[in-house]
Amino acid sequence: MSRPGSKIIQAKLVLLGDMGTGKTSLALRFVKGQFLDYQESTIGAAFFTQVLSLNEATVKFDIWDTAGQERYHSLAPMYYRGAAAAVVVYDVTSMESFLRAKKWVQELQRQGNAKLIMFLVANKVDLEDKRKVGNEEGEQYAKENGLVFVETSAKTAHNVNELFYEIAKRLAKAT
Ligand code: GDP
Ligand code: MG
Repeated sequence: MSRPGSKIIQAKLVLLGDMGTGKTSLALRFVKGQFLDYQESTIGAAFFTQVLSLNEATVKFDIWDTAGQERYHSLAPMYYRGAAAAVVVYDVTSMESFLRAKKWVQELQRQGNAKLIMFLVANKVDLEDKRKVGNEEGEQYAKENGLVFVETSAKTAHNVNELFYEIAKRLAKAT
């Protein structure tokens, strides 16, 4: 429900990060409130929509998810075109995925969209005993590169709604 007089923002959000980090799971958790233990990486909707109502605005998200093209370590320009927000995801149990996340951030920076709102998401924090990437490592990298840092679990839903609310808030502020 949008408040009378509040603005409506349509925002394209792109999900980036290596295969298996939980991009589709985060989108499904946010949009449908569900989680699947065995998510086939190349299958699933490549596009989700969801509406979030804040006091100051109603944000209509168009969420672009990959259908496995990230395995080639780059995405077609149309994937990024017109994006207002980008979420780069890594898996805290994989140092490799964190190193790759940095490459995805560079790839985003190459798109040259200075207004893009960028988030770095450390997913799968429910697997604390298997953690390979410390909270401070992610936090530090995000700080140095002007990204907002959030730790999530698509499995337990930890911080998932908070992540999208924070993105919506920043979009509302910037629009
Ligand atoms: P994508 O390739 O980045 O879209 O990753 P998926 O969403 O397909 O997830 C890859 C695998 O990791 C699947 O088996 C998911 O069930 C699992 N997964 C995703 N998010 C989490 C999480 O937060 N915690 C745990 N334990 N597993 C997760
Ligand atoms: Mg996927």
